[in-house]
Amino acid sequence: MSFTVAIIGRPNVGKSTLFNRLVGKKLALVDDTPGVTRDRREGDARIGSLKFKIIDTAGLEESFDDSLEGRMRRQTEIALDEADVALMLIDARAGVTPLDKHFANWLRKIKIPVILLANKCEGKSGEPGLYESFALGLGEPIQLSAEHGEGMGELFDALLPFEKTDENNPDDEEPRPLQLAIVGRPNAGKSTLVNHLIGEDRMLTGPEAGVTRDAIAVEWEFDGQPIKLVDTAGLRRRARVQKKLEKLSVADSLRVIKMAEIVVLLVDAEETFEKQDLTIASHVIEEGRALVLAVNKWDAVKDRPGTMKLIRDRLSISLPQVKGIPVVTLSALTGRGVEKLLPTVLDVYELWNKRVSTSQLNRWLEVMLEQHPPPMAKGRRLKVRYMTQIKARPPTFSLFMSSRGELPESYIRYLVNGLRQDFNWPAVPIRLYTRTGK
Ligand code: GDP
Ligand code: GDP
Repeated sequence: MSFTVAIIGRPNVGKSTLFNRLVGKKLALVDDTPGVTRDRREGDARIGSLKFKIIDTAGLEESFDDSLEGRMRRQTEIALDEADVALMLIDARAGVTPLDKHFANWLRKIKIPVILLANKCEGKSGEPGLYESFALGLGEPIQLSAEHGEGMGELFDALLPFEKTDENNPDDEEPRPLQLAIVGRPNAGKSTLVNHLIGEDRMLTGPEAGVTRDAIAVEWEFDGQPIKLVDTAGLRRRARVQKKLEKLSVADSLRVIKMAEIVVLLVDAEETFEKQDLTIASHVIEEGRALVLAVNKWDAVKDRPGTMKLIRDRLSISLPQVKGIPVVTLSALTGRGVEKLLPTVLDVYELWNKRVSTSQLNRWLEVMLEQHPPPMAKGRRLKVRYMTQIKARPPTFSLFMSSRGELPESYIRYLVNGLRQDFNWPAVPIRLYTRTGK
């Protein structure tokens, strides 16, 4: 999945020239005379292996009957709405102008990710402007010559963190099957549950004697979503594979978890929810998979509220890093409650796949930073500049720092918990990495 980049800056700094270079076609009309009317363009850009969508806002400078300042703001508003990151150009030969400064101040406040580009730096002609541009407070500028193609390697490095590494989920393909695993201790009721879910008369793909265990899988559709059940002990039993293979060791579960996206951990309500189950559960989280807890044999439970409380207590004590893990009670034997399981799985799957736009994220981040500023390190306040979601499945974020020093674990937790609450992201693991630099 690609990301979107907006090019912004005052007139004549080289926005169209850069756009043309990145898109590789002479799409934009370049003109020396400021004030030439141009349309706003979008194109598919690429630097090396990095592909992204690019928006050239140059046309906006002329298309509104407004002050230059107003028009530049509008450019940024577009960037805010659509782009994951903005490239702000200055003309390093002309130096930093009051308009650049004014604009940079404003950009810093709204916290859209900005990469500063000092253009027209071929030869040494850009040096004065280059040094001045540090003072804009947008981090270290990248020296560029849009016309001569210099600085593209640095630009590549700076854009790389915004790449959404989701290569196995292309945008426009049919929905891929959700990879579901059902794990749990022996006798929890996995085979019984699988039978219920897929129907007794369904043919299983796979095994006659001798087929490897990994080949065992079954696919069906629920509510329009293809679901693939990956290797489970339940399937193995159904397929009458040798008895000794059925013992689901923790190691077995771990292997299955790696193949899955969503994991249903099935526990027997009458047995205590204990260490082995928790080991599996925390492994699901560590692997970045989403977890649904299914409590089976609910038909046989006498004290239902008490049992439920016990399970919830255990979850919140033992898996504090992921709040709101859904708990579904059911009876695989009678089928009662089984109908709640797949809708819950689909809900969690959606959260696991969810993305938040960079602009939304940074408006949120600003509030978080205000409410509770980052701590001091070596007498200086740690500075957080912006944040972007680099991937989904599970949701993963990069937090950009402009100063050295590590954010303490407690502060990262504050942000992760905030993401969970404010973007309604229960039940799935959330990853947050910090980076220093541009
Ligand atoms: P925009 O108004 O920001 O879109 O700027 P343009 O792309 O139209 O460029 C304005 C002028 O700057 C044109 O004459 C370009 O040829 C020139 N220009 C753009 N990039 C460079 C560069 O890297 N070096 C030099 N020397 N001139 C450049
Ligand atoms: P597996 O080892 O996890 O595949 O578990 P099985 O599906 O073979 O079930 C183990 C035992 O639990 C069997 O005797 C099932 O009949 C029983 N069982 C499964 N689900 C339920 C349930 O919902 N209620 C009750 N009372 N027994 C169940």
